[in-house]
Amino acid sequence: MAVYDFDLFVIGGGSAGVRAARVAASLGASVAVAEERYLGGTCVNVGCVPKKLLSYAAHYRDDFADSAGFGWRIGGSGDADKGDGGDADKGGSKNDSEVAFDWPTLIANKDKEISRLNRVYQSLLENSEVKIFRERARLAGGGMVEVGGEGGDGGGGSNGGSGKSRRFKARYILIAVGGWPWVPDFPGREHAITSNEVFHLPRLPQSLLVLGGGYIAVEFASIFTRLGSEVSLVYRGDALLRGFDGDVRRFLSGHVGRHLNLMLNQDIVKITKKNNNLQVQLKSGQSIPCEAVLAATGRRPLTADLGLERTAIKPAANGAIPVDGQFRTTEAGVYAAGDVIDRVALTPVALAEGQIIARRLFDKSGREMDYENIPSAVFCHPNVGTVGLSEEAAEAAGHKVKVFAAEVGQLKHSLSGRDEKVLLKLVVDRVSDQVLGLHIVGPEAGELVQGFAVAMNCGATKADFDRTVGIHPTLAEEFVTLRDARE
Ligand code: NDP
Repeated sequence: MAVYDFDLFVIGGGSAGVRAARVAASLGASVAVAEERYLGGTCVNVGCVPKKLLSYAAHYRDDFADSAGFGWRIGGSGDADKGDGGDADKGGSKNDSEVAFDWPTLIANKDKEISRLNRVYQSLLENSEVKIFRERARLAGGGMVEVGGEGGDGGGGSNGGSGKSRRFKARYILIAVGGWPWVPDFPGREHAITSNEVFHLPRLPQSLLVLGGGYIAVEFASIFTRLGSEVSLVYRGDALLRGFDGDVRRFLSGHVGRHLNLMLNQDIVKITKKNNNLQVQLKSGQSIPCEAVLAATGRRPLTADLGLERTAIKPAANGAIPVDGQFRTTEAGVYAAGDVIDRVALTPVALAEGQIIARRLFDKSGREMDYENIPSAVFCHPNVGTVGLSEEAAEAAGHKVKVFAAEVGQLKHSLSGRDEKVLLKLVVDRVSDQVLGLHIVGPEAGELVQGFAVAMNCGATKADFDRTVGIHPTLAEEFVTLRDARE
């Protein structure tokens, strides 16, 4: 009988890896996790968590401005939206109503919270009796994992290579190494930062150019605009957020374009650096000066220098590890989950995948991963929340659809004076009456969509929505009072 050092060896201490390790350990498996960078992965360190903290910070600008209509006076004038963060001394922004923002304070407090979360992750693993290796690990073939030792660059600033390598035999191996920002090849790309660096800027840039039109681009463009930077958002498409519902894309692009310099059907040709300033040349021939460029042009699986060549695993052209429905790779006993398999790059999906693998291996559970009706939110301003199919995707899948949509005002803005509407949309199957897609562009969209996702997973029909009593006065009630289908 084979003797194993561990029942499960997890390479990568992010969402999928840590969840799989903890669940496996709770089921009695002996487990190791190797993580050379930071515990908690992208989400905790350079993703969802710090991004949401920055997004909260950014929202205050609107809140200060909105408060005046409710009788609040802040500093002198009481209108926080008048200033545009011109006084960016030491990375802070200040405006004529004496509302000041200090970037270093935000970043220091954010860093403190992230360090706390890193420690929480560490103790969660330790308390589950998971052995943690703070080193690079590579596949060594034959069910072996090599920890430490020299290796090539992992594409992500590996700090592996310290000390001698050791080999461990594992009954199962899980690859959960995540992804890494990818920047297209153009002259001067080295001057662009990515979502990895943006959380550690020493000062708030007075001017920022963001490249891309996906989740990260629209979130950071919104955040930096509200914090006081002058932002240009450069996207090659004709509406932001490709893949989202067409109405959502148009509505959001219109809103975003009112607050920053939105340049659609555009792309970067090159970036040049003069002294400490950047000059960005666009496809149109225009040249934009700015202090920083954030490339938010997608992420790629981080599979370089992982020892794949010593196994039967052949990564896809973008580095993704192919897996079957049970997350098995083509190497016996080796599984993969999370961003590295390039299915749905969302933290809750990675958590679910990690949990399902651990239960399958050590609890003989047969639960399959369900990729339908995965809700998601984009934390731009205003937020986008979505679950199910876009109108376009529903039609492409062969559904005959009825669309219920409304652009509604918000009670709050009757006093704040803010001219900001909310888009709500339901995509309904004409034959079965099932709600196929639910979309909102408006405040707290993520909070709102989560509950509707449960209803949709239960197969809710439009008639179910109609017989549900609303909560008044809320935005959410609009979803149960949409009566007229679009002609
Ligand atoms: P996305 O895939 O969402 O967006 C990438 C953007 O870059 C697209 O607009 C794409 O354009 C553009 N792009 C790609 N290649 C080029 C190129 N060669 N030149 C110019 N533009 C280019 O990736 P992100 O980096 O924004 O985020 C990665 C993933 O992380 C997301 O897909 C999401 O799964 C996850 N994420 C989730 C968040 C959340 O849940 N709130 C927040 C942040 C990230 P085009 O559309 O034309 O292809």
